[in-house]
Amino acid sequence: MTQLERQGWDVVVVGAGGAGLRAAIEAREQGARTAVICKSLFGKAHTVMAEGGIAASMGNVNSGDNWQVHFRDTLRGGKFLNQWRMAELHAREAPDRVWELETWGALFDRTPDGKISQRNFGGHEYPRLAHVGDRTGLELIRTLQQKIVSLQQEDFHEFGDYEARLKVFQECTVTRVLKTVSDSGSAAGEDRVAGTFCYERESGRFFVLEAPAVVLATGGIGKSFKVTSNSWEYTGDGHALALLAGAPLLNMEFVQFHPTGMVWPPSVKGILVTESVRGDGGVLRNSDGKRFMFDYIPDIFKEKYAQTEEEGDRWYEDPDNNRRPPELLPRDEVARAINSEVKAGRGSPHGGVFLDVSTRMPAETIRRRLPSMYHQFKELADVDITAEAMEVGPTCHYVMGGVAVDSDTAATRDVPGLYAAGEVAGGMHGSNRLGGNSLSDLLVFGRRAGLHAAQYAIAAGEGTARPRPDSAQVDAAAAEALRPFSAEGPEPGEPDGRPPENPYTLHQELQQTMNDLVGIIRRAPEMEQALEKLAGLRVRAQRAGVEGHRQFNPGWHLALDLRNMLLVSECVARAALERTESRGGHTREDCPAMEREWRRVNLLCRLTDVSGGLAPAGPPQGLIALARETTEPIRPDLLGLFEKEELVKYLAEEELHG
Ligand code: FAD
Repeated sequence: MTQLERQGWDVVVVGAGGAGLRAAIEAREQGARTAVICKSLFGKAHTVMAEGGIAASMGNVNSGDNWQVHFRDTLRGGKFLNQWRMAELHAREAPDRVWELETWGALFDRTPDGKISQRNFGGHEYPRLAHVGDRTGLELIRTLQQKIVSLQQEDFHEFGDYEARLKVFQECTVTRVLKTVSDSGSAAGEDRVAGTFCYERESGRFFVLEAPAVVLATGGIGKSFKVTSNSWEYTGDGHALALLAGAPLLNMEFVQFHPTGMVWPPSVKGILVTESVRGDGGVLRNSDGKRFMFDYIPDIFKEKYAQTEEEGDRWYEDPDNNRRPPELLPRDEVARAINSEVKAGRGSPHGGVFLDVSTRMPAETIRRRLPSMYHQFKELADVDITAEAMEVGPTCHYVMGGVAVDSDTAATRDVPGLYAAGEVAGGMHGSNRLGGNSLSDLLVFGRRAGLHAAQYAIAAGEGTARPRPDSAQVDAAAAEALRPFSAEGPEPGEPDGRPPENPYTLHQELQQTMNDLVGIIRRAPEMEQALEKLAGLRVRAQRAGVEGHRQFNPGWHLALDLRNMLLVSECVARAALERTESRGGHTREDCPAMEREWRRVNLLCRLTDVSGGLAPAGPPQGLIALARETTEPIRPDLLGLFEKEELVKYLAEEELHG
């Protein structure tokens, strides 16, 4: 039996980005003793990298904005596959969450009359993104951290211990959500959450955080793809932890390829070029110098976008009497257009297109409004964006698919006590996320997850014995985590003496597979090939071996992350093969139309083998089973916010006349 430290908490929040911190603040304010655990340094999460801003219909720059318009834009962006109740809550609550940040000390850029300034972004009808230059995420995280410190100071005054009710475990990774069968047999003896199995990255020490409620706030999956704007933490851990605990994932085929990542030099390929560049007036041109986006306005958006450059340019000064330029179409449209231009031989020298802001704004304005972009290009590519165009191309950026959750409470399905919020949760953004809608999502649903997890945990602690993970589970989790140190032995049925696999090689092959075969444009035979390759990688990953010891050993950490990336990649490939249409972030060359019948279909992924890849390699057909589920009908008053002619483009016949 593994002897290790166990600590008891009410709520464990896995992840310290915007969603995790907001959840933790709420849980602590509800009176729950809350632990936050993150695998990076505290303060280093994807949220910090968010540049453009946070979408909230405050109406500060255009008073025509309100939650209903934001809701409409979000559903259009998601091609009506959004979990509509989430989109409603998000649009209604986002302004309060932004104002709340200000009361906690955030300092947003201002309008001339002193209100929080809001900028334009793709798919948003009005200027809606509250921002701090192009460093909004940094301010958001700084503010949430400051709030956490203030709560810890309160606790010090009350209990003489800063960490009495809110403690951060940084540079620690969760590898398993632990469960138990309740003693009381409540809820028909269902398995419920009992805590998390964790290791400290620096020392390799194992420990268990016991708690009746766990909130997953681990972000996305981008590191399964070769070209990505995401950093090393985005290995789909929360998605995999949910699957392994028995909770399903929703619509994993929807992965967002941001249209503008850096394409040169190779070492920085994929790093994000914020959409604010286009929101502030930047234009896309091909190698002929043509502003090609005018050729790519799809029928469903024709009435809303300028048809000429002159009209598009006038919109920046007079948005009420002109239509917006097509550079500000939703991201999926722009990414596909760039892909087509490059494929047609009209790309830039390094395989992208040109994004030019230098001819559109004075150098001084560029440096003020886009300081990070100015430095990023100067330092990484030796390009001065105030004098020359940037070269950009699509990069894997965000996953719309995620853990299936209840819209109001963020509770996952089938696993009492497990919650998910932020990028790891699915449903909110449908088939495509609008820029700026993630930061607001983190705050709205982070708060909700913290609230409901705390209420659940406090209720769980009353009367009956608190759930405790049994030793067998803890031992199994420890054995799983140690496996890469003894990987050289032959697997049953395999020839003796096979060398261990290098986790870095496996990771590179996985990234190449997903990039080439399940990337921005998809075809059935390629996805079938991807599934075969993933099955092969899964077998080899069983032998992913590392040398050395448990003290800070990045190869070991990667070997453990591989389990998660492989599971999640199989979900993406399997769901993408199943959905025989093109919608939002999912583009099928062999099924190019958006089919109204598919609007009613959610695809759920579940694990067939809950040992979760501990068994040698799982069955050859893979570890993931797909199920179709009919989407919930959209509430009539919300449908009433759209013109009938528009709904006809999206909804199935029976929905229109039902
Ligand atoms: P994150 O902020 O990534 O936090 C995840 C946390 O989980 C981290 O603390 C990580 O260490 C931890 N973690 C992960 N796995 C484990 C594990 N196994 N154990 C313990 N801890 C774990 N969105 C917008 O709305 N506006 C923007 O302007 C914008 N710009 C962006 C720019 C860039 C470059 C990128 C990459 C994204 C941008 N996005 C933007 C998207 C947005 O930033 C993310 O979707 C969002 O920050 C995700 O927040 P999160 O709280 O869900 O996860």
